[in-house]
Amino acid sequence: MRVLMVAPPGAGKGTQGALIGAHFAIPHIATGDLLRDHVARRTELGLAVRQHLENGALVPDDLVLQMVRQALELVAANGGYVLDGVPRNMAQARALYQIGRELGMTANVALHLQADDHELIRRLLARAALEGRADDTEQVIRRRLEIYREVTHPIVAWYGARGILVSVDAMRPAEQVGREILAALEVMKTFVDHVPEKARTPVDLTGLGEAFGDRRTTHPPG
Ligand code: ADP
Repeated sequence: MRVLMVAPPGAGKGTQGALIGAHFAIPHIATGDLLRDHVARRTELGLAVRQHLENGALVPDDLVLQMVRQALELVAANGGYVLDGVPRNMAQARALYQIGRELGMTANVALHLQADDHELIRRLLARAALEGRADDTEQVIRRRLEIYREVTHPIVAWYGARGILVSVDAMRPAEQVGREILAALEVMKTFVDHVPEKARTPVDLTGLGEAFGDRRTTHPPG
């Protein structure tokens, strides 16, 4: 199973990525974690990206893509992966597709986690109190959400057109979201290698709550 996640900060990429990785026994590759590790170890890459991370800005595409290519090469033998944090803009999406083709491991599923800004800010500030991440201050959180809206969210449509998009409502408790994701991925696992991408349609699970009696009327935009 080869999965990539597109989601705003605070939607649960880390939590759900770890769950997917454990469930399918595939490596969970989180670009934010890899970058923070470089910063902590003061590697050349770490020194080059530290300021971007602290400001909530995107790290230059070439640096991230080189790091991701290396990470994918390392896990090629496993055959699967769950990517968390990349791609974050259209250029990264295209470059990642190219890398995937070269390595024979393009993504089978683009998992989109949706949540609204109010809930995301609430979660990130709660996490800040526990973990103290340098970019979890309200001002930097707002900047990260803005970047997500402007440059990351538009790539969702591209995955829809490619036929590999699965959208999930991530406003609910993590266990519930996780169950829904695993159920959807288990079903997809049976056909991703047999059905060509162009023969598939996007899977939108975000309206299910309402269809089954959830009274919330607004749809999260994220
Ligand atoms: P979040 O999604 O909550 O912002 P991440 O841990 O995924 O957290 O990312 C933290 C930071 O790492 C980002 O704000 C950015 O500076 C950097 N980063 C991670 N992935 C990428 C990427 N693909 N391209 C550019 N910058 C990235």
